[in-house]
Amino acid sequence: MSDRETIDIAGKAKAMLGRFYGYSTFRPLQLEIITAAMSGHDSVVLMPTGGGKSICYQMPALLSDGVVVVVSPLIALMKDQVTALTSNGIPAAAVNSMQTEEQNRDILEQLFSGRVRILYISPERLLMEIDRWSRDLRIALFAVDEAHCISQWGHDFRPGYTQLSCIKALYPGVPVMALTATADRLTREDIALQLRLDNPRLFIGSFDRPNISLRVMTNPGKTRRINYICSMIDRYRSDAGIVYCLSRKSAEETDKQLSGRGYRSVVYHAGLSVAERNRAQELFINGEVQVVCATVAFGMGIDKSNIRWVVHNNMPRNIESYYQEIGRAGRDGAKAEAVMFYSYADIATLQSFVDESGQQAINTEKLTRMKEYAEASLCRRRILLSYFNETFDHDCGNCDVCLNPPERIDGTVLVLKALSAIVRVNGMAGITMLIDILRGAARQELIQKGYDKIKTYGAGRDLSFAEWNAYISQMIQLGLIDIAYNEGNHLKITAYGRRILDSRGPVTLARYTPIERRNTRRKSAAEPEEIQLSPAEQLLELLKGVRENIAKKEQVPPYIVLTDKALLEMVRTEPIDMESFSRVEGVGERKTVKYWKPFVTAIRKFKGIRDKLGTGMSQEETLLLLNAGYDVNAIAEAKGIKPITVYGHIADLISNDKLSDFSSVITREQYLRVMEVAKKNPDDFYTILAGEMPAGLPKVAVAISDFLLRKKCNS
Ligand code: ADP
Ligand code: ZN
Repeated sequence: MSDRETIDIAGKAKAMLGRFYGYSTFRPLQLEIITAAMSGHDSVVLMPTGGGKSICYQMPALLSDGVVVVVSPLIALMKDQVTALTSNGIPAAAVNSMQTEEQNRDILEQLFSGRVRILYISPERLLMEIDRWSRDLRIALFAVDEAHCISQWGHDFRPGYTQLSCIKALYPGVPVMALTATADRLTREDIALQLRLDNPRLFIGSFDRPNISLRVMTNPGKTRRINYICSMIDRYRSDAGIVYCLSRKSAEETDKQLSGRGYRSVVYHAGLSVAERNRAQELFINGEVQVVCATVAFGMGIDKSNIRWVVHNNMPRNIESYYQEIGRAGRDGAKAEAVMFYSYADIATLQSFVDESGQQAINTEKLTRMKEYAEASLCRRRILLSYFNETFDHDCGNCDVCLNPPERIDGTVLVLKALSAIVRVNGMAGITMLIDILRGAARQELIQKGYDKIKTYGAGRDLSFAEWNAYISQMIQLGLIDIAYNEGNHLKITAYGRRILDSRGPVTLARYTPIERRNTRRKSAAEPEEIQLSPAEQLLELLKGVRENIAKKEQVPPYIVLTDKALLEMVRTEPIDMESFSRVEGVGERKTVKYWKPFVTAIRKFKGIRDKLGTGMSQEETLLLLNAGYDVNAIAEAKGIKPITVYGHIADLISNDKLSDFSSVITREQYLRVMEVAKKNPDDFYTILAGEMPAGLPKVAVAISDFLLRKKCNS
């Protein structure tokens, strides 16, 4: 491809990005990926969840006259993608087992007639169909989403995927784009091999998601966990979050507790019926619940929603899963939070999963890396990104370690107290018991076992439970103490710990800093909280209300109407007319025309602007769509008015000198015909022409004739 052609593609692509998606710039790599596909190259694209992969494979459908076929295993997600595309004015549809055979056939017909430009299809269905597709169907690109499913090395192998090599065999000339959010090198090479890609270009996007803040809380008790989750819900009152739990039971318990406190919560796990699961997912997507308490089974189908926070009630089994799960938050790029509760009891459970997994060595290693992350005293984002082989040479400033850099203290005395207590109970105490001994608690079990008689009983009264908890965790990280997962999580002294105990130190620890007391006022149904909102927050709430009304009316999830990020920008820029509304990031042409009025009206009211919106705006909308290349019927459809009204607008626009290129509205022949008939029958030419051209077009011709006359007089 020549430089000239590349520049052409870039310019066109940028125009389409603005027109259809309402974005002003590409994210890193998107344009390169699109250009590669448009020049016929195969490619492997690695980008994190939320990185912006979809636009990469959708754009070729807008830049060429071929269709894009997207193979995806996530049927639930297809519907979402299709709704998002159509709401932006891009004709898309899906073929899969969730629809009737009749619907599927109908959609394929539309594909062949060019009315569908992007087709989502499951691998099974593609394999059924692909032979039958005539070579007349011009295909611009095959996109294989979740491409790691093809590899046995990946964590999500699906045998159905392995047969996708037939794509290249049947359509050697059509580029294939394989996309995944899984990063390891083995999987990546396997993808190219299995799909028989031809010298593929490799694109590796950054896995950094700087808008998601990271935090780990070590050994929080039950009450602290639930209080923390409540504080998250309170902080994002009108948004949603996910609590991931390791077991169905704990998901159910958490859900019960939250509902009991008056929060709108729902539970989701694989033990529920399909109907129950669908319902939970729907409530969540439509913003009717604030939180879903789920096992890892949840998430694949809801990748698109505006999730502001994710809490891991337990540590996940590996960093890939963890990163994918927290990646569901903040996909619109606005601020989001990820918090993980880490307790030693989780390790035992996870280790048992690993033992049963059949791939013990590799999974043990993955679990170890996860544990290191949880226990880290370095910037957590650096650890995550280094896991994905990405160099990140600075601290992120948006994780708990960066925000609370540890202060070093001489911890020798603390260590000696703890270690000698462990030795004196013969390594038979777990962490809670050990702390109780050190703090001299009068617990029945402790006294029964005679632990109140040992020398270190009460030797650490001066510290709180939370302080001891934090320091003992550090001793574990330092390798002074080991947890016997196979012996009821009892703490044991290690050989290194023994040496320290014998030589009396020294040991440096990081000073414990209590988590700032958050506002964890409980919410109960009986006494609703009074919350003071800042003006910006008030406006945001207002706009969310507008969005919700539209979403209900159109029966789509709120984020399909507009993302949180777009609403935030509106709060900042306060658009008070269509023109400024159309400049909001994420608002393309179609959404401008459909939504500007309700939002702009709300903002004007909020700002106390009394004068009503001008009445001529409907013409402006028509002009906007006309300039964007819509024809009269498409404009009428987009605005929900009759074509004759659109022609009326166009005639007025011409009369007001706002439109001078009418070539797409009327042909030269039509114009001359109107002039001819009008000359002979000046009184009833409208009626005479009614049978041969759309009603309203003659009026446009007359306006043009006046326009040309004016131009002549002026020159
Ligand atoms: P994924 O890589 O997980 O498929 P998506 O394609 O769904 O990610 O993109 C995630 C979000 O980022 C979507 O809301 C999408 O509209 C948005 N996005 C993608 N590209 C851009 C861009 N160039 N500018 C602004 N937002 C973008
Ligand atoms: Zn950091």
